[in-house]
Amino acid sequence: MPLSTSQKQKLRDWMKSKGVKPTCASCGESDWGAGEIISSPVLAPDGVQAAESHVPMVQIICINCSYVMVYAAVPMGLP
Ligand SMILES: [Zn+2]
Repeated sequence: MPLSTSQKQKLRDWMKSKGVKPTCASCGESDWGAGEIISSPVLAPDGVQAAESHVPMVQIICINCSYVMVYAAVPMGLP
């Protein structure tokens, strides 16, 4: 799900409030763009997907090399 304008602002505000200024682990640049909110299924100890449990995450994408970092979206109030 693409971020809305208000969600992009929320993300910028959250990053600023936490002092988050990521350096790309792949190329060393520090210019990032907002990606999308994605969701990863939660697995039970046996490796089977726990029913309908997902962890929403927001992508931050390096403008230079397209490396993707993800942050938990719920604490930011995004989903
Ligand atoms: Zn990069």
